[in-house]
Formats: sequence, structure tokens, C-alpha cells
Amino acid sequence: MPSVTVKLPAATYTISIEPGLLVRAGGELRRLSSSAKAGIVSDSHVGELHLRTLEDSLQSAGFETVSATLPAGERHKNLSMLMPVYDRFLSAGLERSTPIVALGGGVVGDMAGFVAATILRGVPVVQMPTTLLAMVDAAIGGKTGVDHPMGKNLIGAFHQPIAVLIDPRTLSTLPVAELQNGLAECIKHDLIRDGNAFAQLDHKIERALRLDMETLSDLIAHNVAIKARIVEADPFEKAERAHLNFGHTFGHAIESESRFSYSHGQSVALGMCAAAFVSGKLGYITSVERAQIVSTIRKAGLPTGGLKLDIEKVCRAMAFDKKIKQGRIRVILLEKLGQATIRDDVPDTLIREALETLK
Ligand code: NAD
Repeated sequence: MPSVTVKLPAATYTISIEPGLLVRAGGELRRLSSSAKAGIVSDSHVGELHLRTLEDSLQSAGFETVSATLPAGERHKNLSMLMPVYDRFLSAGLERSTPIVALGGGVVGDMAGFVAATILRGVPVVQMPTTLLAMVDAAIGGKTGVDHPMGKNLIGAFHQPIAVLIDPRTLSTLPVAELQNGLAECIKHDLIRDGNAFAQLDHKIERALRLDMETLSDLIAHNVAIKARIVEADPFEKAERAHLNFGHTFGHAIESESRFSYSHGQSVALGMCAAAFVSGKLGYITSVERAQIVSTIRKAGLPTGGLKLDIEKVCRAMAFDKKIKQGRIRVILLEKLGQATIRDDVPDTLIREALETLK
């Protein structure tokens, strides 16, 4: 089974990728834990589709399961939703050694991870991501947390999983728009780290959208490895991990200004187009390379134009973005295809011009 090892000062863990892994999850967890119980956190969508399979698998491996289901969606990603989860696990007698399995997308992964980081001052967590975005991004790296009315992910903790188990077959129930959101992150990874892979990406995207399991497994393994290497180099997001924000400084502003009518993936797609424009203007990439980036994003069914927002408002939202450094907007650009750089000296006029190209 394809796997990637993440080696961090605080922990080493394996990310396993295999179609059908959900059915075998119990055996995998038993090799890591001798606990009598296992907690599971899922959400209302994923719970309906995949929870029973996971419970059966864990029970067959001798775990008594205790499941908690969150309402699905980012708007429920807040502290108050966690209280019933703490109640459920504490009243079921969860102990320090009891693992919690996060079965779901990035919202479940972040919330279950935060519960695991904080309940009884920390219990082990296993991430079982079921969206492409969570598989290639959110489940790896140990960032957990919830949103606050003042912003996304403002409350949280670093808590590395003891394992990440990825079953690409769970993607067959995922709405296509969610698959496309994950593809935005895959495009981003190749743009910042692997120019050769980017050149091959178009036909992988086409096959991934047809849910070809071999392509999806390869794509996930490749992207997991990229994310893992970045996390290893910068576990606490002090430097290089910021490259993962390619497209995100523009993207977050678009997402919030559109009041989330653009999804995260769609916003990042537009953000990558804007960042590619700036990279071109500063002489890093050619106009042909920029056109390739736009074309690949379009191939994934993601937007590359047609932005109907007030550009001035998006600029203002960018200035409020947390990635602002000493009063300057910090953007991640491409030095070349496959290599990113951080700049905080891009003139406002160029930022505005880049946003204008998205209209
Ligand atoms: P999500 O968890 O909201 O999932 C999207 C939707 O798909 C939800 O409605 C969910 O119920 C549904 N779903 C999930 N898996 C499914 C499946 N297999 N079949 C059918 N439906 C399924 O969103 P997401 O895009 O996975 O994650 C976004 C979240 O991830 C954000 O909160 C973001 O902050 C977080 N995130 C965290 C990190 C990190 O490093 N921790 C990185 C990136 C993003």
C-alpha cells in the first residue's frame, strides 16, 4: 500500500493510501493502539454514508466504539458545537490512551483534532479524511481548531495524528464541486514544488474527475508527499510552510468579500490566477506559463475569471488578512513553475491590477 512517513521532532507517523482502507481501518488502528475503546467524530453527511463501515471495522478489531456526529459544514465549526462531543466522550469513559478517529472532511478533521488535543489534556487522533482537500492538505500537519466570529481557525492547537488513513474510494460519494476544491490544492502543490508534475497534471485531472481510483490514489500520494515535506521543514508554520498560501492571500479576500458564495477552492483558483499574473509582471514566469496555469485551473472546472466583486473592497479585505506583515500585504509568488517565493513589497497598484484581470 502506498504510504508516506512524516518525521517531526514531536512525532513520526505514516500516511497510508489505499482504496478499501475504510473496511480495514480497525486492523490498522489495532496495530497502533491496545485501547479497549475508540472514539469517532464524523459529520451528518459523512456519518450517513461511511460511519457504519468504520464502526463495524473497529468493532471487528475489538474496539468498543463511541461515535459523535457534528452538523456538516463550516458554519458549525465553532466551540459551542464541541461541548456535546466532549460530553459524549467523557460520559462514555474515554481515557488518555483512547484514540479518536476523525472521519470526514477538513472541518471534521480540524474539530476532532482539537477535541483530541484538549480532552483529558490530549488523546491520540487518527485522521481519516474523506474529501480530496482533507486528504492532500488538512489531515496532514497537525493544525487543529475551530472558527471564532472574528475569523477562521482563530482557536486551535497543533496536535499531530498518530496515523492518517486515506481511502480514495470514499471520494466516490463526494459532490463534484468538493472534488474540484481539492484539485485547486493539488494544482497549488505542483506550482509551488514540482514543475515537472505540473506539466503532467491536465490529464490526471481529467481522470480524477472521472473517479479513476488508480489516478486518484497516485494523485493523493504525490500531494501528500509534497505537503509532508513542507510540514517537516517547518512544523510550526514559521517560514516555508507559508508557501502553501500560494493563491490564498487573494483567495481569502475573495472568499470573505463574496460572503462565501465562492467556495474556498474557487477562491483559491482565482487567487492563483491573480498571483500568477503578478509573478509574470515581476518577470518571474512567462506569459505562456501563466496561460498554462490558467488553462489547468479551468480544466479542473474551477473559475479563472468572471469575478463580480468590488475590487476596492477585495483590496481592503486583503489588507486585513492575517498574512499582513508589518503593514504590508504578503503574497506568495512563483519564481518559476514548481518554485515559490514570499514577497511583501508588491505595489498596491499591481495587486489591484491583478484583481482587475479576474473580472
Ligand atoms: P468540509 O469538511 O466542510 O467537507 C465538505 C462537504 O463535503 C461537507 O458537507 C461534508 O459533509 C461533505 N463530505 C465530506 N466527505 C464526504 C464524502 N466522502 N462523501 C460525501 N460528502 C462528503 O470541507 P473541506 O473542504 O474538506 O475542509 C475545509 C476545512 O478544512 C476548512 O474548515 C479549513 O479551515 C480546513 N483546513 C484545514 C487545514 C489544516 O491544515 N488543518 C488545511 C486546509 C483546510
